[in-house]
Amino acid sequence: MGFGIWDLISMLPTYFIIFVIGLCIGSFIDCLVWRLNRKKTILGRSICPQCKKKIAWYDNIPLISFIILRGRCRHCKKKISFQYPLVELATGILFVIVWLRLNNTSDFVLQTSYLLLLRDLIFISILIVIFIYDLRWYLILDIITVPAMALALVLNFFLGFNCLNLLIAAAIGGGFFLLQYVVSRGKWIGGGDIRLGVLMGLMLGYPQIIVALMLAYILGSIVGIMLLAAKKKQWSSQIPFGAFLSAATVVVLLWGEKILDWYLGIIF
Ligand SMILES: [Zn+2]
Repeated sequence: MGFGIWDLISMLPTYFIIFVIGLCIGSFIDCLVWRLNRKKTILGRSICPQCKKKIAWYDNIPLISFIILRGRCRHCKKKISFQYPLVELATGILFVIVWLRLNNTSDFVLQTSYLLLLRDLIFISILIVIFIYDLRWYLILDIITVPAMALALVLNFFLGFNCLNLLIAAAIGGGFFLLQYVVSRGKWIGGGDIRLGVLMGLMLGYPQIIVALMLAYILGSIVGIMLLAAKKKQWSSQIPFGAFLSAATVVVLLWGEKILDWYLGIIF
């Protein structure tokens, strides 16, 4: 079955809707992360962190408001963090990438399962929250990872994944960090990494968990060397490793099969 340009054009309205949904979820994630840090409820209107004025709905449209306001608050003219449009855009793009898999019928066995796509959208949204929070505050929140573990197990169970496989993957992910925690007496990593390792296992299963762990270390090394070269960090600096773990998990969720095929192709 070929997939031509006309199929793509006919799918454009769908992709546009998925992109807009992604932008809105990204906007919600921005707001959630900010409120988690200040221990506020999710309900209620957004305020400008600088002047504390309430933000009108027309100044709160994902991506568009940032462009119209040229990245400044309407009232106090202080700069709005680039985090907001970046997270919105990244979430929108990732949502479209997840949906694109629906058309790759050849390598997407469960093509008819919209539930599987929905699962990926939920997993990616959770991982984006962990990513931003760790990047900004060097902390992996249990309030996110622990409920996400239960959610990942339940969703994967209903989608027909092997529970034993998921639990083995969780033990590998958690055990990997637990070992480092014990050896270093909690100096290299924190308890949050152990729980994130368990969550990664429950989301990805085996052997994908190993691919994700390897990828996180490769990503971490590359970024670490780049920052060292740019003299932005010293050897002793804190590294937001949870951000690399969540980024690697997103990559393996989307392209895990392809990475595994490619890797096994090299070995055998
Ligand atoms: Zn303001």
